[in-house]
Amino acid sequence: MTEKTYNCPHCQTRLAPWTVPEMVCWGSKVQFVCFNDECPYFVKGWDWMRSKYEVNASYRYRLDPETGEEGPLPVWSRDALKDGIIVDQEKK
Ligand SMILES: [Zn+2]
Repeated sequence: MTEKTYNCPHCQTRLAPWTVPEMVCWGSKVQFVCFNDECPYFVKGWDWMRSKYEVNASYRYRLDPETGEEGPLPVWSRDALKDGIIVDQEKK
């Protein structure tokens, strides 16, 4: 396991390791996601999704640590998907 950390290019917040739900078939089991509610990428996403698709949703910045691929992770509320965040376990 690497201890590498990643920062969001939009808000410089450290990306949180996040477990991919079973039904999604991205290559990596763990993705790095910006869960900062103030992130401009996330904040602008609400307007963009509303004007483009007329839906009340947004997306968060996501990075695949294995492939380096980045992209939007769609969310339908501020708290959506947050239960997938891998919380730092007690330091061993
Ligand atoms: Zn961000």
